[in-house]
Amino acid sequence: KQDAVQKEKVYDTQCPYCSMQCKMQLIEQTVISRKIHKTIGKDNPTSEGRLCIKGINAHQHALHRDRLKEPLMKIDGTFVPVSWNKALEVIKEKFTALQQTEGNNALSVYGSASITNEEAYLLGKFARVALGTKYIDYNGRLCMGAAATAANQTFGMDRGFSMTLDEIPKTRCIILAGTNIAECQPTIMPYFERAKENGAYIIAIDPRETATTNFADLHLKNKPGSDVALANGLLKILIDEKLLDEDFLAARTNGFEELKEQMESIDLDEVAELTGVSKEQIYQTAIVFGKETTGMIFTARGIEQQLDGTAAVRSFINLLLATGKIGKAYSGYGAVTGQGNGQGAREHGQKTDQLPGYRSIENQEHREHISKLWGIDEKDLPRKGVSAYEMFEKIEEGEIQAMFIMCSNPIISNPNANFVKKALKKLDFLVVADLFLSDTAKLADIVLPATSYLEDAGTMTNVEGRVMLREASYPIVGNAKHDWQIICEIANALGKEKYFNYQSVEEIFEELRLTSKGGKSDYYGITYERLRKEKGVLWPCPSPTEPSTLRLFEQSFAHPDGKAKMAFFSNHGEVKKPKTSRKYPLLLTTGRVMSHYLTGEQTRKSPSLAAHNVEAFMEVHPETAKQYGIKKNTLVKVESKFGWIVVRSKWSDSIRKDTVFVPFHWTESQNVNRLVSNQLDPYCKMPGFKVSAVNITPSKE
Ligand code: SF4
Repeated sequence: KQDAVQKEKVYDTQCPYCSMQCKMQLIEQTVISRKIHKTIGKDNPTSEGRLCIKGINAHQHALHRDRLKEPLMKIDGTFVPVSWNKALEVIKEKFTALQQTEGNNALSVYGSASITNEEAYLLGKFARVALGTKYIDYNGRLCMGAAATAANQTFGMDRGFSMTLDEIPKTRCIILAGTNIAECQPTIMPYFERAKENGAYIIAIDPRETATTNFADLHLKNKPGSDVALANGLLKILIDEKLLDEDFLAARTNGFEELKEQMESIDLDEVAELTGVSKEQIYQTAIVFGKETTGMIFTARGIEQQLDGTAAVRSFINLLLATGKIGKAYSGYGAVTGQGNGQGAREHGQKTDQLPGYRSIENQEHREHISKLWGIDEKDLPRKGVSAYEMFEKIEEGEIQAMFIMCSNPIISNPNANFVKKALKKLDFLVVADLFLSDTAKLADIVLPATSYLEDAGTMTNVEGRVMLREASYPIVGNAKHDWQIICEIANALGKEKYFNYQSVEEIFEELRLTSKGGKSDYYGITYERLRKEKGVLWPCPSPTEPSTLRLFEQSFAHPDGKAKMAFFSNHGEVKKPKTSRKYPLLLTTGRVMSHYLTGEQTRKSPSLAAHNVEAFMEVHPETAKQYGIKKNTLVKVESKFGWIVVRSKWSDSIRKDTVFVPFHWTESQNVNRLVSNQLDPYCKMPGFKVSAVNITPSKE
């Protein structure tokens, strides 16, 4: 009862989950000596006060009793609490000993797209300056890698959206390629709803029926892994029907003539067969999209987490360029990022091939620029290492012998998950910083308790490329520390105080601003003061007096000649994709459910979220289920060349008969990533999460 409320405190913060980064408030009421919590939305220019089920319940994991409160050290196979001093002393001893006997590259760092920009920046600097290793990469490689590479290759820069959310309601045609926005980023949906109310035609491409495909005007229910072929078919029709913007192509792009020549080899009957989509539907999509004066294409993990994910995204961007639907009002491209800081975490040097400001670690000029700012000799700056999954192969080969993992759970999120677990067990020394004793943390020698979104302030860059300041003032749980403090304390223990002497997170942001200055992701004009006043600023923002860059590419693209690069990709891809066979006759695709996030480590701790989906499941068409003897709601063994899992069957006629679906938020024998192959996209090193070949049998367990 309100009368019984003795005290009420309100904490401003931002949702820790998806890339929408909805602003919210935690209300803490003291009622008869007990604390009661609830989360409500806070008005702001993007989420407009909305929250989805995950945001409303986010405090449940942050305030969970299982939060780590002290550093833990494994002694004789058992974790015992130790002081920070002891943990740092052991880390220093082990890291230093390995550096002396095996060299700096025996150490490695595995980062995250859920940490703040400041922490992502600092982690990149930590690997290169404190450890001196080339081995650093992060979990965003498994998430947004294909979209980032495709945008860099095509446009010359990678900001997820070329326009803002505000433009969506006024566009005339929208293609949603492999993105289930209604369930993954629910608070974006009202922008699409307004577009539909205003008469926009919406086409969704997905092998499954979802809340998003049900909302669309047309659903292309294509076979998993056939997205390049589908985009090629659409472009072929645009060319044949003369629905091109010839002026735009001539003035603003390179490569179209070669692409057009290659398009002569595209046969629409073959496209229909490869995609499983009727020629009529492919025509309808191309004609509507081509004829409308404005249009947008959004891609997400559905087409990106493929062995030809980069090719698929570039092929869809070809459609925008061919029809001149980018760089003008109510048109553009949007990569719908998944993780909370999916955009920002890929800009500041956490990727193995990258330095702050989206600079290249292999570019001499960039190397000299950043080394000077960091106060180190350019020759001491390591070169490029390998991608996230490939680091586990380096462990297996014996080259990497120690790893520091921050805010990530790679034994669940990586493909070929059984192998990754085996590799991590082989490490000489593993340190994990996290909120909970995750499956990965359980394998560690030292576990460091980190603060949550309620306690850890800093900036996050949302799905559009809007930098937002997350205020966070909730009291720290136990002896946990902020991720940036953990990085600094390890660096300082290693004798690198000179480079990691920060008193506040804002100080780190000030350094990030300077190092990003002049780079492609230029944050120099953004300050905390501005972020508070303007409620977010879209980069690039090269000067404190310049406004947000709302729309990109109005005059030119970011390649030196100012033009976008179009390219042709074969329907069949450069890497051999998993194919069905007599032994593995079905296709498996993976994805999210609305109430869970990533490996589920946080959302499974929230009773309100866990209640929606307590276990993994396999969605299967009833006819397929009958064919394989799978009864409703029974345990089924799903097996690929790489492993097996046991999950509950869920009959659904919303999925293709040749495909089954399993979400990826569960662990151990319910972890679907055990089934995913070790192959990678040659351009961005993205694993092929969305297509595996599997067999299904009733489980005897
Ligand atoms: Fe907003 Fe995404 Fe959080 Fe939902 S999960 S409240 S859409 S940030």
